[in-house]
Amino acid sequence: MKRFDFLVLGSGIAGLSFALKAAAHGRVAIATKKQSAESNTNYAQGGIAAVMSKEDSFELHVQDTLKAGAGLCRESTVRVVVEEGPARIAELMEMGMHFTDRPLSGASEGRELDLGREGGHSKRRIVHAKDMTGREAERALLAAVAGNPRIEVFEDHFAIDLITSHKLGVTGPNRCYGAYVLDRQTGEVETFVAPVTLLATGGCGKVYVYTTNPDIATGDGVAMAYRAGATIGNMEFIQFHPTCLYHPRVKSFLISEAVRGEGGILKTVEGREFMDGYHPMKSLAPRDVVARAIDSEMKRSGADHVVLDITHKPAPFTMDRFPNIYATCLAAGIDMTKQPIPVVPAAHYQCGGVMTDVDGQTEIEGLFAIGEVACTGLHGANRLASNSLLEALVGAHRAAQRVVLSRPPRKVDVEVPVWESAKATDPDEMVVVAHNWDEIRRLMWDYVGIVRTNKRLQRAQKRIANLQEEIHEYYWDFRVTSDLLELRNIATVAELIIRSALARPESRGLHYNLDHPELDPSWAQRDTMLRREG
Ligand SMILES: Cc1cc2nc3c(=O)[nH]c(=O)nc-3n(C[C@H](O)[C@H](O)[C@H](O)COP(=O)(O)OP(=O)(O)OC[C@H]3O[C@@H](n4cnc5c(N)ncnc54)[C@H](O)[C@@H]3O)c2cc1C
Repeated sequence: MKRFDFLVLGSGIAGLSFALKAAAHGRVAIATKKQSAESNTNYAQGGIAAVMSKEDSFELHVQDTLKAGAGLCRESTVRVVVEEGPARIAELMEMGMHFTDRPLSGASEGRELDLGREGGHSKRRIVHAKDMTGREAERALLAAVAGNPRIEVFEDHFAIDLITSHKLGVTGPNRCYGAYVLDRQTGEVETFVAPVTLLATGGCGKVYVYTTNPDIATGDGVAMAYRAGATIGNMEFIQFHPTCLYHPRVKSFLISEAVRGEGGILKTVEGREFMDGYHPMKSLAPRDVVARAIDSEMKRSGADHVVLDITHKPAPFTMDRFPNIYATCLAAGIDMTKQPIPVVPAAHYQCGGVMTDVDGQTEIEGLFAIGEVACTGLHGANRLASNSLLEALVGAHRAAQRVVLSRPPRKVDVEVPVWESAKATDPDEMVVVAHNWDEIRRLMWDYVGIVRTNKRLQRAQKRIANLQEEIHEYYWDFRVTSDLLELRNIATVAELIIRSALARPESRGLHYNLDHPELDPSWAQRDTMLRREG
């Protein structure tokens, strides 16, 4: 049994930022299921939104966020996150994170942050490290963690389930005591006990067959919290990025919106331009409009992808403007200066999650959730670009303050049993696990993707229920492996997305249902909340 003051699950920007703050007040364990840097954070390209210039204001950032959120943001949360942003960016810089800067405008010397602009932002406010902001954030945070003797990092440690008082049969309000964690190297399940557990496990892109997310994004935190009795909110709002490279070997590579910004044109595989039928801005229409248009073209023709064509631009321009995209495509056998790039929309960001307040406090005592796994009310029905890294930073600061300053946690004073695995044997046929993985991801893509209908959702619900029964059997009969654990979690998250989508009889933000194509004003400010019964 391993005892700490704080147990952090996940080593993306949320988990690492919290660990560094909490370490000032006690011993911290970070359990992370692969290598430390492997996270959605590591792949973030654009940057972090924060009000950093005199031309900008908190009010403008708040209004942009509320507009994107389509009537579902919690305004008090939005204000806190926006107003605390600049201080968190300053902390990252003090820690040694390098943001791209440029010569001070209108002055002969000095430098200032190079603020980028992205869709939905009325001002330039994106601080970035070229197009590798997330990688630079992970580098700086992991270096700080490595230099902190009060933080112990457990790589290849997969959190299976939270340990709660209700699961142990203790009466009274539900309380979290820690988690059971699989050591993937030894195959043993360890018991981590701590008065404060932080879920920072990120999103769930892998629930869909096409995603920009890396393999870790299997919604484990949402599934664990749901099993532990927490409320899960707004899971119908999954953001799809319109253009992810479609290639059998290159997984999850994003083709930046900037390619369309520089004149790239979306076409069918036969070479027909189609965006003029959907929006006056054609290929430069808003992200959700473009994603829906591509989905509709693919469904109509049965094609696996569409293409993005920038071959009409001079090759030296394209190679200079998009060096990383050019090189990655070329390595995959596609010369984007001579041939169109095959693209598909792909699941990108989970706006809903474990319901928390602005400090990341869940309704289970001792359990906090921050970053993409949480639903704080910042994003509402659609995330404003680059607000997610910001939310994770602010959440980490506030959660750490809340636990250590205002309400010191109670010690764990019950006997926590170790994991029971005596009867388990190795799975007999791994093909069952592999097949169910594929089936869920394909099913979610086809029936619960960008454009939904009641019939498709109901069909998906029935199939998921069957699959869950099979997975349940497998789970209890065999020794747990990370593949099986992730399969159980994507099935749970799929179920939650479907139920949430069925529960909202309107189209709002990212949730688009052909049977209810209009926004229903009576559904504004109403979160979709699901809680496990019994
Ligand atoms: C390609 C791409 C580009 C993006 N660009 C931007 C951008 O420019 N700006 C922006 O604001 N956002 C961007 N995002 C979104 C943003 O990166 C994420 O929302 C953010 O990084 C989430 O941080 P996190 O700490 O909550 O989760 P993550 O960074 O995903 O970290 C989750 C951690 O939890 C671990 N974990 C998961 N399950 C378990 C388990 N069961 N046990 C133990 N450990 C577990 C993972 O291994 C990982 O270490 C982008 C996302 C992608 C995929």
